Amino acid sequence: MQLGTYPTPVQHLAALSRPGTSLWIKRDDLTNPVYGGNKIRKIEKLLAEAKRRGARRIVTVGAVGSNYVLATGIFALPLGVGVDAVVVPQPRTQHVVDNLRADLAQGITLLPASSYAHAAVLVASRLGRGAYYVPAGGSNRIGVMGYVDAAAELAAQVRAGEMPMPDLVVVALGSGGTVAGLVAGFAAEGMTSKVLGVTVAQPPWIVEGQARSLAKKCAPKGALQDLPKRLEVDRRYLGRGYGYSTAKGESALAEAAKVGLSLDLTYTAKAFAAALDRVAEGRAPTVLFWHTLSSARMDLLLRDAPDERAIDGKLTSLLRDAG
Ligand SMILES: *Cc1c(COP(=O)(O)O)cnc(C)c1O
Repeated sequence: MQLGTYPTPVQHLAALSRPGTSLWIKRDDLTNPVYGGNKIRKIEKLLAEAKRRGARRIVTVGAVGSNYVLATGIFALPLGVGVDAVVVPQPRTQHVVDNLRADLAQGITLLPASSYAHAAVLVASRLGRGAYYVPAGGSNRIGVMGYVDAAAELAAQVRAGEMPMPDLVVVALGSGGTVAGLVAGFAAEGMTSKVLGVTVAQPPWIVEGQARSLAKKCAPKGALQDLPKRLEVDRRYLGRGYGYSTAKGESALAEAAKVGLSLDLTYTAKAFAAALDRVAEGRAPTVLFWHTLSSARMDLLLRDAPDERAIDGKLTSLLRDAG
């Protein structure tokens, strides 16, 4: 099943490059015109699996403003596959509120949970006949194969001379699937690029462990030995935690806006801040920032969405003070 338009472009960000270090971008914000970003590559694998299993519903879990939950609803519901999403608290931002409203407009069933422990209980109650369980972020072995393919796509672009071999590929590290697929895929392709996973969720050691274990599951047997050194994880951009903005993220977001890119404060601004710092350090001649946020028009998805005040209080109580 193909939902995306591939290959997504690679572009040189000349204005943000320095003598000796060039910054490039992989435009996975453009994977789909209705809703793009990194979740599309995972969801096309996961929906194929749901169909193969004859599932009538996907049961999943995420933060209340999860991009993964929204993307799953957008692509699964028109195929007749329902979406039950157990959602947990996160700081209130406009992006989170918009995603929540868009989820309800799509017809996603949202089940509020006060914590991940409570979420596990609610997930268990929704499993059973016709249900396909997908973990947070779509990051199981099947979803991650979408990013193994993405790594092969970039390898082909490098071979075709569209960009030099990147020394460092910088990407946000949330549920770990994107990083894992790129690490495994670069190994399979014989790419020399190292992946820099910028931690945006916590606890950081769980997040890193998840990425490393998923990469192992998806890499060719012969590549397992050098897998650990293909990934570097940087926790310094996390700040207070998942969904909280940081000063560095805010200034990276402003830099990106100057070259026409729109980032979010939860994921891409933190990763872009790390990319800009690595460019300034100048140790890696070619740095590639992997854009993972949808840049599709959100207003179109909100056209028939309920007003925030009309949303059930059990759901809005999951929007925590971001201050
Ligand atoms: C989900 C998400 C990520 C993180 O991807 P994982 O595969 O969960 O690590 C990065 N950026 C954006 C915008 C996302 O929605």
